[in-house]
Amino acid sequence: MTTLVWLRRDLRLLDNPALYHAARRGPVLVTYLLDEKEHSPMGGASRWWLHHSLCALQDELEKRGCRLVLRRGDPLQILEGLVEDAGVTTIHWNRLYEPWAIARDARIKEHFQDMGLEVRTYNASLLNEPWEVKTGQGNPYRVFTPYWRQARSQIAGEGVLSVPPLKGAGQTTASEDMKNWGLLPTGPDWSGGLAWCWTPGEKGALDRFDRFLEEKLQDYAGKRDFPAADAISRLSPHLHFGEISVRDIWNRLQPFEELKSAGESVTKFRSELGWREFSTHLLYHFPHIAEKPFRPEFEAFPWQEDEELLQGWQQGRTGYPLVDAGMRELWQTGFMHNRVRMIVASFLTKNLLIPWQAGADWFRDTLVDADLANNSAGWQWVAGSGADAAPYFRIFNPVTQGQKFDPQGKYIRKWVPELADLDGDEIHKPWKVEKERTGGYPDPVVDLAMSRERALAAYKSIR
Ligand code: FAD
Repeated sequence: MTTLVWLRRDLRLLDNPALYHAARRGPVLVTYLLDEKEHSPMGGASRWWLHHSLCALQDELEKRGCRLVLRRGDPLQILEGLVEDAGVTTIHWNRLYEPWAIARDARIKEHFQDMGLEVRTYNASLLNEPWEVKTGQGNPYRVFTPYWRQARSQIAGEGVLSVPPLKGAGQTTASEDMKNWGLLPTGPDWSGGLAWCWTPGEKGALDRFDRFLEEKLQDYAGKRDFPAADAISRLSPHLHFGEISVRDIWNRLQPFEELKSAGESVTKFRSELGWREFSTHLLYHFPHIAEKPFRPEFEAFPWQEDEELLQGWQQGRTGYPLVDAGMRELWQTGFMHNRVRMIVASFLTKNLLIPWQAGADWFRDTLVDADLANNSAGWQWVAGSGADAAPYFRIFNPVTQGQKFDPQGKYIRKWVPELADLDGDEIHKPWKVEKERTGGYPDPVVDLAMSRERALAAYKSIR
């Protein structure tokens, strides 16, 4: 009566429905399979995160007398072997929502059901399933505000599932050594900054959320747009890998909702979780958004591919301090503040006219929270090609955005140290300062006024 639990992006013990329900039935064989053929391959930063998250999970499971069986290859073949080895009668997993994962999992489910096994799947990562939230006409939503109004009203006030006592099965089942998976960078090892900033794993996630509730939530609504303010949760990679349950987060916000000082912040924070739900809803119903514009008219947009400009953007050498600060923060830490993500994405797609897919691909490789749904929706929102997108004429000006959201230039000084000694407003316009004072910082790669007009003309051409 062994149940096989196939962990994927649910790398936690608390409120893990697949694990919980399996453990209640009897012995469990817990496995993680590295599927290198998956349609949307993991970037370098995500692979680094996965390695450390699996190490943390392995330790936690072992403390409870249960092994984590690690294998690499084709999931169907590996699962078949495990089923045979350990006398498995039932398979449990938590659902994923990327189109390729849905197709793969449906095939695997059908295969084992045809063999007479029981296969059970659960929701471990969303407040509502993407198909549960519908308009009055039974269609998916395309605009966030009505989506979220409806979605919020449907959130079930379920409690979280506790960590179950585990009885490990398959004690002799072969497991691979993660060191041989090559998830960590070598030659060169660029992960020092990531290790300094992050603690992948369930404990790291829960500690970070506790700290957010205690120290930051109160001021979230007022300060979340200021990248130097350290006012955000930084939970996104933990949520992506399922190291923390969104239901747990949702429930633990409740007591703060009633506090006069924090009510607005709780509503705002909840609506950010809503954007995450909405992005998955969009990807589920409109799977083409991972590669193609949501709005078909954008197929004819006159993008201008330019490898040199793209590289300058990737390396944080555009000559616009806030853009460069964001791109360097990303390279060094695997993360970028949301406001800065919008600014660098607007700069790439509107001032440089480089296709949003090129930016999304760089983010996929370098972000520790790289997520197909959130990344595609984020880029399309900024580019103007998305479902509920920013209007095409909204072109973020990196200079005025810097003056508004980083008025003292604290964020810029941290990530672009060659400008650290500039005074006052100079930090936002270093090209106006004598070269000796800017330590080799590049001149702007494009003129803002000219490129704005060019972008508006390009948008006009497809309307
Ligand atoms: P908080 O402000 O503390 O918000 C809490 C949680 O809500 C986040 O952890 C995240 O899960 C969710 N959230 C917040 N804002 C958004 C949003 N706009 N869209 C969807 N979910 C949101 N987020 C990713 O998780 N992965 C990505 O690959 C990704 N790519 C993006 C690309 C672009 C161009 C843009 C503009 C945004 C992107 N985002 C992405 C959304 C957002 O920037 C990050 O989720 C956020 O910065 C994470 O920081 P935080 O955890 O401190 O967020």
